[in-house]
Amino acid sequence: MQMKAAVLHAQGLPRPYAETRPMQIEDVVLDPPGPGEVLIEIAGAGLCHSDLSTIENQRPRPLPIIIGHEGAAIVREVGQGVTGVKPGDHVVTLFVGSCGECRYCVRGRPNICASAFKSRAAGTLISGAKRLRRMNGEPINHNSGLSLFAQFAVVMRNAVVKIDDDIPLDDAALFGCAVMTGAGAVFNTARLRPGEEVALVGLGGVGMNALFAAVAVGAGRIIAIDTSAKKLELAKAWGATDVFLAGNADCAAAVRDATDGGVDTVIETAGTMPALELAYAITARGGSTISAGLPNVGAKFSYLHAALVSEERSIRGSYMGSCVPQRDIPLMLGLYRRGKLPVERLKSGFIGLDEINLGFDRLSDGLVLRQILRPNG
Ligand SMILES: [Zn+2]
Ligand SMILES: [Zn+2]
Repeated sequence: MQMKAAVLHAQGLPRPYAETRPMQIEDVVLDPPGPGEVLIEIAGAGLCHSDLSTIENQRPRPLPIIIGHEGAAIVREVGQGVTGVKPGDHVVTLFVGSCGECRYCVRGRPNICASAFKSRAAGTLISGAKRLRRMNGEPINHNSGLSLFAQFAVVMRNAVVKIDDDIPLDDAALFGCAVMTGAGAVFNTARLRPGEEVALVGLGGVGMNALFAAVAVGAGRIIAIDTSAKKLELAKAWGATDVFLAGNADCAAAVRDATDGGVDTVIETAGTMPALELAYAITARGGSTISAGLPNVGAKFSYLHAALVSEERSIRGSYMGSCVPQRDIPLMLGLYRRGKLPVERLKSGFIGLDEINLGFDRLSDGLVLRQILRPNG
């Protein structure tokens, strides 16, 4: 079939993107779903910081590529052998579509599936296929097995989770990345318990979902930290007990002073070195520093080895919130239904494909939390 898509043809172009247009809106060809694959119509796709860092060339990707990795969609066609979803079903998409067979999948950790890792680097689906091409026949790479900045996508069956029809698809879209990553870091990676304290460094879409999750858990103290005073205000209104403005040298000392030497669990979601350094600096003895923000591919973090040992520190990564999505997305949607994961607060408006470059200018300026692309109007 033929459809419209935003094709990323160059990484690292200067801003403003509204003028340099790293993504061009093109008519492209999408092949029908092969065995184990499904065709979905994109209802909503969030503009996420990790898309922005791909545009900025923080992580090189094979080009041309269609990015977009957080969304909700309607199944339109299923390939041979697909079970569990049928045309008309509403789904949330997963940027790690697990294979179910590798050593990580069989241990219950589909979020770090080896096959997904391999196919992501190759710009293919886990099946090895590329289903996208330009009108002149040139293949277009898939992004994380999804490529949602388009009217339709062909993805693996395991890259979607069926959801109830009455959940608004615009809200459901956020569960595909921001909610799983942020709330999952709190529920799964940190396993935060009622009364415990947590600090959140970075208050974008992921950080705010970590905040909602910390409130839902019943955290005793929630310390929110960001470089934007406006986001701190929001965090305070949404349940943070303490807020600190990052960006000056005194921030770490101020947090340590206010917390009797540091916080037991610190979750960093900004994906920058200053953010991770701050997170580590405010972690208490015996505490955990959890990093959930995707950084530049070459960024390296250093720490005092002696302190790691004598203070019994932990530094942990959290990818896709350590989620088992087929288990966790229904649980998280249950919390959403009860108003405990109020993701609708994060929506900053809707855009069409034509505005996508401008949308990333806005995200880069820090003016918005989550814009939702509606590629089908
Ligand atoms: Zn994302
Ligand atoms: Zn796997």
